[in-house]
Amino acid sequence: MTTTVNPEAKLITSPANQAVKDVRALEMRKKRKETGLFIAEGMRTCIEGMELGAGMTQIFYLTDLKDRPDIVRLRDYCHGNGGEAFEVSRAVLEKIAQKENPQSVIGVFKQKLQALKNVPLNDKCWVVLEEVRDPGNLGTIIRTIDSVGASGVILVESCCDPYSFEGVRATMGSIFHVPIVTTPRSDFIAWAKKWPGKIIGTTLQDSTDYRSVDYTSPLLLVMGNEQAGLTDDMRAVCTDRVLIPMNGRADSLNLSVATGIMLYKMLEN
Ligand code: SAM
Repeated sequence: MTTTVNPEAKLITSPANQAVKDVRALEMRKKRKETGLFIAEGMRTCIEGMELGAGMTQIFYLTDLKDRPDIVRLRDYCHGNGGEAFEVSRAVLEKIAQKENPQSVIGVFKQKLQALKNVPLNDKCWVVLEEVRDPGNLGTIIRTIDSVGASGVILVESCCDPYSFEGVRATMGSIFHVPIVTTPRSDFIAWAKKWPGKIIGTTLQDSTDYRSVDYTSPLLLVMGNEQAGLTDDMRAVCTDRVLIPMNGRADSLNLSVATGIMLYKMLEN
């Protein structure tokens, strides 16, 4: 049952409440795809979404926090978007967050995926990820793109979902700021032929030291799958193939670490 506690919010005390069940269903990729929604945890991330004008459909917060200025702002913003606000018990929040130490605020936001045709051909630097599988890697890369001031991320073929719980958490709020494009591989390859600048592929085979290349923008940085690396078709569209030297016994770097090293080098000037 849901009770209206004041004009601004409804009270939920039972984890069996339908609104709670609906939010929990967003843990499934299928549901996120159907609804176009995703969950963002924590005050800081929700405020980031609000300040960047993201579409918010629901906000859940601990009853004790209802008068805090940040909560009042979030509630007003949610209502301004036509959304609903819920005051909830700790037990309900734990049910939604499914984490040992849940945050005190959880927001439900609208996803914002873009098409390849929206990428301007003269943009500074887009990161292209082929079949990235680990949401933690993807979230960390989105956060790094935001940190370094790159343009956005293009997800090629079947990648993990940037809007998964784990992925959103790893972005630390950058999910609301970094443009995300999804595309089939064949469309990307056709589009890349029109790209006016360099297309930098990172690969451990037949490549030159990443420090020896001129990185004048516009640039595309192409990163491979965690296990298989880049496919031959993607390698073929790259104008340059580079490698970060491996000096110890490890044969490759973690994908998000390699992306960070490349981006800071490419955009250092
Ligand atoms: N076995 C795969 C291979 O041979 O390509 C390793 C994949 S690696 C874990 C995942 C991705 O991280 C690579 O496709 C590449 O984009 C990037 N990467 C990892 N180590 C790198 C390095 N030393 N230099 C450049 N890119 C690297």
